Amino acid sequence: MTTYSLMSGGEKLVTADTFSVINPSTMVTVGESPKASIEDLNSIIKEARKAFTSWSTTPYEKRQQYINQIADTLETHSQELASIITQEQGKPIGAPLGSMFEMGGAAAWTRYTASLELPVKVLQDDENGHIELHRRPIGVVASITPWNWPVMIAIWHIIPAVLAGNTVVCKPSPYTPLSTLRMIELINRVLPKGVVNSIAGGDELGAAISDHIGIDKIVFTGSTDTGKKIMSSSSKSLKNLTLELGGNDAGIVLGDCNPDEIVPGLFWGAFINNGQTCAAMKRLYVHRSIYKEICDSLTAFAKSVKMGDGFADGAELGPIQNKMQFNIVNQLVKTSIQQGGKVLLGGPLDSEESLFFPVTLIAVEKNDNALVQHEQFGPALPIIPFDTVEEAILLANDNSAGLGGSVWSNDKQAAAKIAGQMECGTVWINKHGAIQPNAPFGGIKSSGLGVEFGEEGLLANTTIQCIFS
Ligand code: NAD
Repeated sequence: MTTYSLMSGGEKLVTADTFSVINPSTMVTVGESPKASIEDLNSIIKEARKAFTSWSTTPYEKRQQYINQIADTLETHSQELASIITQEQGKPIGAPLGSMFEMGGAAAWTRYTASLELPVKVLQDDENGHIELHRRPIGVVASITPWNWPVMIAIWHIIPAVLAGNTVVCKPSPYTPLSTLRMIELINRVLPKGVVNSIAGGDELGAAISDHIGIDKIVFTGSTDTGKKIMSSSSKSLKNLTLELGGNDAGIVLGDCNPDEIVPGLFWGAFINNGQTCAAMKRLYVHRSIYKEICDSLTAFAKSVKMGDGFADGAELGPIQNKMQFNIVNQLVKTSIQQGGKVLLGGPLDSEESLFFPVTLIAVEKNDNALVQHEQFGPALPIIPFDTVEEAILLANDNSAGLGGSVWSNDKQAAAKIAGQMECGTVWINKHGAIQPNAPFGGIKSSGLGVEFGEEGLLANTTIQCIFS
């Protein structure tokens, strides 16, 4: 079995304890993850602080070169890392949205981010004075990641932080630490010592990070409840925060759509990575005039999608990643049915022996249905009819989440008007969830604070210093 290590100051750090990581398809142990103690955390943060002095003063162009070398490393090792992702996360290795796709995304994000500039802005230059706005790194950035896209999300955190001159301590989810640990080990072959460090352990380690005086910023992707805890404990040392939290994205399908044309996009918008994606479509509102057609067509399409072990030929969807999430999805589906939801496909399971959960479509009449109101983060989609556009907008906005949303129509102008009234950080027209490295992404309402990606995402890893002369 492969040995995985923490990286601290460019060296492997051996921990006294380890914990087992389970393959959700087979329930067999994939490998042992190091389990850091508080002493390990203290020494890793110390190494990151030590490295900050020279990294923050390394010329920006030189840092860009390092980031491009990281992109090369990710490309060279994509097969190896994708295989670890499939083993610990469950997503199929070769599927269009599987773990090789995740690695392709990680490399592409890295490469694009390396091309961003951080120029000095001249705010004033006249007889009254000269004022320059400089962007400075913040210090040591802690990255805390979830289990759904382990390598890609770690890259989203690490790369802009490092490019801006910060050093990083990254803590992956205890469900999927191995691919991130290996990735950080590999990128340490490229970077100077201590610029990117890794730490692994349970949720309590995340809590210790957000409490730690040696951390200047936290970039966190995960649930809204954890985000609130991080915000609360970070307040003691007034840390800078980027919080990418839970979503409950609505899709609104207008009556002029051709179901056959949009159903593949609707399906993959909702079921990408088995629905375990923050910006997956989690509620689908359909105009009553085409409601039945869309339900029938989605059901037929869903039946054609193959679920299985991530290494099996043709598998497009894997299992739910862990039992905790399996139970959340199963219970929400059960409650939805008790509240009047009608099963179109799939349905709840009585056995918890396997983590494979069938693709489930539920016809729902009321917006207060549990599967509509709560984030399922799994392969179950409620489909709700509406009669007027105004009603659809009200229903879509009647939720505490505000990550993404979509509008589906042949009339792009009408769709854009609706987009402007949706309470969320991103709206897609005739697609859902298509994020890009050049477009800032983040949630409003309880879906988070701040953005990642693009120039704004890079700036979020800096502080402003104005120099008057
Ligand atoms: P989670 O909040 O349970 O865990 C995420 C990370 O936080 C893990 O590394 C965990 O160990 C750590 N953690 C747990 N308790 C902590 C604490 N008290 N302090 C600090 N860290 C702590 O989330 P999850 O179950 O891994 O991920 C699923 C959730 O993530 C969903 O709600 C999903 O919508 C959200 N998500 C959001 C985005 C986004 O960009 N907005 C992207 C992916 C996932």
